[in-house]
Amino acid sequence: MTPDRYAVVGNPIGHSLSPRIHALFAEQTGQHLVYEARLGRPEHFAEDVREWFREGLRGLNVTVPFKEEAFRLVDQHSRRAGRAGAVNTIWIEADGLLTGDNTDGAGFLRDLTQRLGFDPGGRAILILGAGGATRGLLEPLLGAAPARLVIANRTPEKARGLQQDFADLARGARLEASGLEDMPAGPYDLVINATAAGLGSGGLALPPALLGASGIAYDLVYGPAARRFLEWAGAQGAATVTDGLGMLVEQAAEAFAIWRGVRPETAPVLAAIRDTAGIG
Ligand code: NAP
Repeated sequence: MTPDRYAVVGNPIGHSLSPRIHALFAEQTGQHLVYEARLGRPEHFAEDVREWFREGLRGLNVTVPFKEEAFRLVDQHSRRAGRAGAVNTIWIEADGLLTGDNTDGAGFLRDLTQRLGFDPGGRAILILGAGGATRGLLEPLLGAAPARLVIANRTPEKARGLQQDFADLARGARLEASGLEDMPAGPYDLVINATAAGLGSGGLALPPALLGASGIAYDLVYGPAARRFLEWAGAQGAATVTDGLGMLVEQAAEAFAIWRGVRPETAPVLAAIRDTAGIG
């Protein structure tokens, strides 16, 4: 029997860990599928994706820089993809409609609550950055009822835009927005680096005392790119520091569950990916 075909598209895509993650999920759950990386062509993204599905592709993950374009391309999308304004998971329904979802926020929240054991309820949270990733995190984080959530961004207007867009979900939480220079003082229980910048020259310059004694520092990026932020957090006395590899595996598991109707165990896959990718 021919295996079902899945893929991830991005540009660049050479270093994507998704093919390895989905191969491990398939092996673990006994699903008969192949999953490959495809280089997206910026001027031809929409036509390429439609052609791939016409050729029999069953599902597609979408990564940088195509998530917003994928949102515009699909015929219908989930509520959470609508909130995020971005799609990272596509499949084709029996009626031929391309359907899009965004599993990034759910993957992040699952990693935070299940692996790290952090309940955002009643806590103070700082998110650095106001790009697509932050937009994806806001609905699940606000849904977990924090006491306070601050979005701080290099371009403060973008942080304020998100504050307005998500005000209806804030309920009891204090949802605030600022620039990076005038961030409301800590301590925060959770500081999330959702910028595409490292720390140091040309990157972020963070004030001390942002993190509380039992605080968690979470960088959405992983590998060497996360090193400076995590070192900064360690020097601030953070109780837990983590990169975004757990989120990557969890958002993939969420996509796999949508496509295959079975949810893989993520802990052994995360451990295997850390080993083989050499991401310590
Ligand atoms: P994006 O939409 O391009 O937004 C980039 C953000 O970084 C903006 O807030 C931008 O500020 C800020 N920024 C860029 N350079 C900066 C600098 N030198 N100093 C301060 N701020 C700077 O990107 P995104 O999609 O939100 O992704 C953000 C990061 O999350 C990326 O590194 C991405 O790889 C990672 N991510 C990881 C996962 C995962 O599964 N682990 C999932 C999604 C994303 P301005 O608004 O001022 O430009």
